[in-house]
Amino acid sequence: MPELRNCIRCGRLFNYIGGVPLCIACKEDDEEEFKRIKKYLQENPGATISQVASELDVSIEKIKKYLREGRLEIVGDEGIPILTCEKCGKPIKTGRFCNECSRNLASELSSVVKKSDFGSNYQRDGGMGFRYLSRGNSGNKRNE
Ligand SMILES: [Zn+2]
Ligand SMILES: [Zn+2]
Repeated sequence: MPELRNCIRCGRLFNYIGGVPLCIACKEDDEEEFKRIKKYLQENPGATISQVASELDVSIEKIKKYLREGRLEIVGDEGIPILTCEKCGKPIKTGRFCNECSRNLASELSSVVKKSDFGSNYQRDGGMGFRYLSRGNSGNKRNE
């Protein structure tokens, strides 16, 4: 039996199926808006968030939401700290965590099951990486 809910945006009652409680109309709206942002960014690479917001009449919060959801990515200027990693606070371009933290989180989550991360940790902490050994011996002999 479908559950009736109020749309969080327009307040209308609708058949809730899961996910964000938006009615179909608002969900479509959302998609449309997202597409507009995406298109705008394709045409204006490197546009700032506030530029996009004012040009398209979309709230900055909304754009940030898309970024958090990983549906948009900031391209171009790396310096804009619009999003920060929820763990370490580093500026990031998309999603909720920086690459490092999301890798750590992922390995934390999966470390019980698999230990694929073992290799990289080993390399990093070991301090015993490979050294360049002289190759001169074999290289120079045939030089005549
Ligand atoms: Zn609605
Ligand atoms: Zn981080």
